[in-house]
Amino acid sequence: MPFSILGLIPPLVRAATDLGFSVPTPIQLATIPAILQGRDVQGCAQTGSGKTAAYGMPLLQNLHASPAQRPRRVRVLVLVPTRELAAQVGEMLRSLGQQLTPALKLAVVFGGVSINPQMMGLRGGADLLIATPGRLLDLVAHNAVTLSAVQTLVLDEADRLLDLGFAEELGRVLALLPEKRQNLLFSATFATGVQTLADQLLADPLRVEVPATEHNEPIILQRVIQVDAPQRTPLLRHLIKDHGWTRVLVFVATKYAAELVAEKLYKTGIFAAPFHGNLSQGARSQVLAEFKDERWEVVVTTDLAARGLDIAQLPVVVNYDLPRSPTDYLHRIGRTGRAGASGVALSFVSADTEAHFRLIERRQHLSLPREQIPGFEPNQTEPASAGDPASAPGTGGVKGKRPSKKDKLRVAATADATLKQLHA
Ligand code: AMP
Repeated sequence: MPFSILGLIPPLVRAATDLGFSVPTPIQLATIPAILQGRDVQGCAQTGSGKTAAYGMPLLQNLHASPAQRPRRVRVLVLVPTRELAAQVGEMLRSLGQQLTPALKLAVVFGGVSINPQMMGLRGGADLLIATPGRLLDLVAHNAVTLSAVQTLVLDEADRLLDLGFAEELGRVLALLPEKRQNLLFSATFATGVQTLADQLLADPLRVEVPATEHNEPIILQRVIQVDAPQRTPLLRHLIKDHGWTRVLVFVATKYAAELVAEKLYKTGIFAAPFHGNLSQGARSQVLAEFKDERWEVVVTTDLAARGLDIAQLPVVVNYDLPRSPTDYLHRIGRTGRAGASGVALSFVSADTEAHFRLIERRQHLSLPREQIPGFEPNQTEPASAGDPASAPGTGGVKGKRPSKKDKLRVAATADATLKQLHA
């Protein structure tokens, strides 16, 4: 079924075609007509389902249909939890809207960078604003933007907005919006907090859930490779060369490990860059842009990049260090196999981390075969420290959601262990 059947105008259909979107994904099929009609929507869909275009295309069309006031005032507000997601949504909506005339003005604002260029960018107003809540409130406080003309509010990744402690800021933003408006709420899960928010916000919404069994579910081949911890970098290098992989996202436990693994790969002739929270926002954006342009073959990252990021057709994700929780495992491997494309997720498991991986498998109802790669067969068969799987190095345990003091100490110890292995 082509996009035009959903009631979208030719410039948007053409832009979608140019992006390689030939048929709508299930969430797009379900929500585009309703959003065009001005209905509220509650969408339960993972990043990767095509949800950005699902709300972006009809909202761009609605904006296009009603002429901009002078000066322009924000009519569509998209709230997102992270800078990365803000940039990514901005990029997608710009691409989708680029064939519209007269052109709509989009602005993207987020914290962690200087506010002045964003204030300049908002001079003369904007039709659609994509923002993280904290920076948006700062801009309102500076009189750089007013929200009194907002007709549609989108909460993208509402579960993360709440997880990251934005509830209070969200409340302050909502208080600045006109009461009568369209509300769209997208979330990967509908945990209690999100459902309460949805109940408060949405009026007679269309509820759409894209079940995990839909055909747009990413096809991810999950492989588990047994290897001694000190052999992980040589094995990674071997696999990259052997398979000719050119876009690999590698997850490690610490920022320091990200630096070191990237450096070790780089020294052996693989274009690898680190990506973590100690880099400036500018450096992070640059690494991502260059990774997307295939200038970097490998990005070695902490869990900072595990959620929300969309790098189209990322074929390989590697758990060099295992994730701390089973949920993080899903978020990490979800970086590959986007929008129906297939991908490979590799996890390196040693005698020390085997028990932790089994726990992840149990929680995710998985049972994956273990592989060994010739030349990299493990020598260590018993864990160095037997007992509690949560104390396995490189994992950090799986107790609560937020790291406890004990967890932080354990991560520090893991960093030390990883460093010793890397220097070995
Ligand atoms: P999202 O869920 O919005 O993060 O989108 C995930 C990925 O799906 C992005 O890389 C989009 O470019 C891609 N995508 C969105 N809609 C479609 C479509 N109809 N067909 C193919 N790919 C799509």
